[in-house]
Amino acid sequence: MSDRDGFIWYDGKLVPWRDATTHVLTHTLHYGMGVFEGVRAYKAAKGTAIFRLREHTDRLFNSAYIFKMKMPFDKETLMEAQREVVRANKLESCYIRPIVFYGSEAMGIAATAISTHVAVAAWPWGAYLGEEGMAKGIRVKTSSFTRHHVNINMCRSKSVGTYTNSILAHQEVAHDGYDEALLLDVDGYVAEGAGENIFIVKKGKLYTPDLTSCLEGITRDSILTLAKEMGLEVIEKRITRDEVYCADEAFFTGTAAEVTPIRELDTRVIGSGSRGPITTKLQQAFFDCVAGKHPQHADWLDYV
Ligand code: PMP
Repeated sequence: MSDRDGFIWYDGKLVPWRDATTHVLTHTLHYGMGVFEGVRAYKAAKGTAIFRLREHTDRLFNSAYIFKMKMPFDKETLMEAQREVVRANKLESCYIRPIVFYGSEAMGIAATAISTHVAVAAWPWGAYLGEEGMAKGIRVKTSSFTRHHVNINMCRSKSVGTYTNSILAHQEVAHDGYDEALLLDVDGYVAEGAGENIFIVKKGKLYTPDLTSCLEGITRDSILTLAKEMGLEVIEKRITRDEVYCADEAFFTGTAAEVTPIRELDTRVIGSGSRGPITTKLQQAFFDCVAGKHPQHADWLDYV
């Protein structure tokens, strides 16, 4: 990843990709306190547009606020930085990664006199869980690793440290040949995927875990909005893994994963074992939105 042409926005200016480096004693590298976003830009009706840029930027600021990380830039500057990296790298559609991290002035968890840095990179990234998965559904396994408890890590913050838990879960199930991991909360209820929120469909109603130990996903919010507009009943509640086994349909949502159907959990085939009709409708509506083809949600796009 580090050896590429292009530009990365780093603390206020664009620098050549290979020069966007930082010292090995950077605090975040040692202790994991840092926050980031995952954002996508799509080729839309009137050019390249970033999907829900303001909401992603708001979440980045909330994530930093939760950890008391002092943001050295305002929201407008960071929104423009995200547009700028897409333009500078001449990307039609891409993934955008803003990251906020501490500098290398001090070591130790008590360090306070420490600077905060911000970088924004962008690169092309296709279907995160595979094109075939998008069409036919993926195979998921419940991980033996539990999702963070709400009082262990701050689940409303999209933080660097959260993802060791995600990687442990993903490594475990990928080793057994599954596409993605499902994590349960400390009480044993369904929380989310390693990098996605989860939805199930049962008897025409849409269910998703309530916001306790899962991330408040922006794709989740988009799907909830689209589902309500379609007249679907949506219910946010605690969900058990056997409710997922017996669902008619299930799917993951996320900026990287977009809307990915789940065809199997823990070797139980879900519904017909392929992408279900409600999943298909929501997936289509989502892709219409990001492509600027959904008249009601033109405001979700921010043209670069
Ligand atoms: N949960 C986790 C753990 C994630 O990493 C992500 C991806 N950011 C999501 C849920 C989905 O969030 P969003 O739709 O905002 O990308």
